[in-house]
Amino acid sequence: MDKVCAVFGGSRGIGRAVAQLMAQKGYRLAIVARNLDVARATAGELGGNHLAFSCDVAKEQDVQNTFEEMEKHLGPVNFLVNAAGINRDALFVRTRTEDMVSQLHTNLLGSMLTCKAAMRTMIKQGGSIVNVGSIIGFKGNVGQSAYSASKGGLIGFSRSLAKEVARKKIRVNVVAPGFIHTDMTKHLKEDYLKKNIPLGRFGDALEVAHAVVFLLESPYITGHVLVVDGGLQLTV
Ligand code: NDP
Repeated sequence: MDKVCAVFGGSRGIGRAVAQLMAQKGYRLAIVARNLDVARATAGELGGNHLAFSCDVAKEQDVQNTFEEMEKHLGPVNFLVNAAGINRDALFVRTRTEDMVSQLHTNLLGSMLTCKAAMRTMIKQGGSIVNVGSIIGFKGNVGQSAYSASKGGLIGFSRSLAKEVARKKIRVNVVAPGFIHTDMTKHLKEDYLKKNIPLGRFGDALEVAHAVVFLLESPYITGHVLVVDGGLQLTV
């Protein structure tokens, strides 16, 4: 059976680009998102024997059920990518508690839940995980305190898990993008923001996806945070 790669948040944006590259390399993909129609459309466009699943990563039962379904239809998950994420930007004093909770639940707890569900089989056979963080997780940003907390937490979680499970031949890494053209950033003023980016532009989802695939397939790298930001972290 082909190796299986589950991409949470694989229906759009960065996750979709990761799924495209992994499909080209011959992996079987599980495309996971809340909107099953969009996930199905993405799985269909990949052009192989790939499947779509509906799941809200913030809900533990959803995640458990999804892993059971993926394993039933595709076999054990060898590669896991956590690219599901949301942002609810606002100055901290104006950030509603429900928006803090939803960002922490989706961006941090969601990745922890999928990693935990993946451990059941990865502990027996090894595996490779890439969590998509953000440079905001360690640089911080005005209007993104809760988002930054979720992404900073994701780095600490990933590096701790990497230490815990290395002996089981499971690797855990993080890709930390800067500004990337996706639905998440389409409301931003690119002309203004790109002045701070040494390479002078937003990145494309595929440029991040190449870094994700590199880490997924690098047998001697674990606990690493790979920044893909056009040099933004050098300036802000
Ligand atoms: P998009 O908004 O383009 O895509 C987000 C994906 O996540 C969609 O597939 C969406 O599908 C899925 N998703 C969102 N919430 C949930 C949920 N609760 N459960 C399951 N799936 C969910 O975002 P990007 O591709 O831009 O972002 C991908 C990751 O990269 C995120 O973690 C983001 O924080 C991070 N990132 C993005 C940057 C950027 O500039 N774009 C910069 C730095 C980090 P659906 O809505 O159907 O659930």
